[in-house]
Amino acid sequence: MGKERNFRPDPNYNPYRVKQTPTAPKTSVIDFNTQRICPACGLAIKIAHNFCKRCGVDLSAIEPIGNDEISKQLAITAITDSDPEVRKEAVDTLGDFGDEKVLGVLTYVLLNDPDENVRKEAADELGDLHHPYSLDIFTKALKDESPLVRKEAIEGLKKIKKKIKPKKLDEGKPESREDKEDELKPEETTEERNTDSL
Ligand SMILES: [Zn+2]
Repeated sequence: MGKERNFRPDPNYNPYRVKQTPTAPKTSVIDFNTQRICPACGLAIKIAHNFCKRCGVDLSAIEPIGNDEISKQLAITAITDSDPEVRKEAVDTLGDFGDEKVLGVLTYVLLNDPDENVRKEAADELGDLHHPYSLDIFTKALKDESPLVRKEAIEGLKKIKKKIKPKKLDEGKPESREDKEDELKPEETTEERNTDSL
């Protein structure tokens, strides 16, 4: 003889709702202790390699991220955490470090993360680092399925082009090691400044 119970359905309870468990990126097999990621093409290569075996860029000047424990742990989080918000935060923080060693993992995230907001963040940070190696990656990201990412890729290209003079883009390539004496042209404009103003 208890009270009548109210059987109105709880509006917050929906038995048919599919539980949304965020999925971790599939490709989480990189071991930063033995591997590094090429910042120019996103390929995982052996840490000891000074040149990327796929795109051929010189990596000798860029330290592998695995050499630094904090950056390494953040890089692992950035590519393996199941929560896109967490991955995005890790990407953001890696970018803030402002070190060239984070280029590889950011490149990897931009090319591989399943979440557009995480990819966009990686593009944003890569743009801020404005390394010439990122030009090809941004060109590739112009074809990303997400307009958010495509837009950020354009921004990234803009940032790099703004920061780097065209001649510097050739740095590291053998052809650029020739003397550049033709740059030492005499100032031609000095005479023009002598016009007297009355
Ligand atoms: Zn490469």
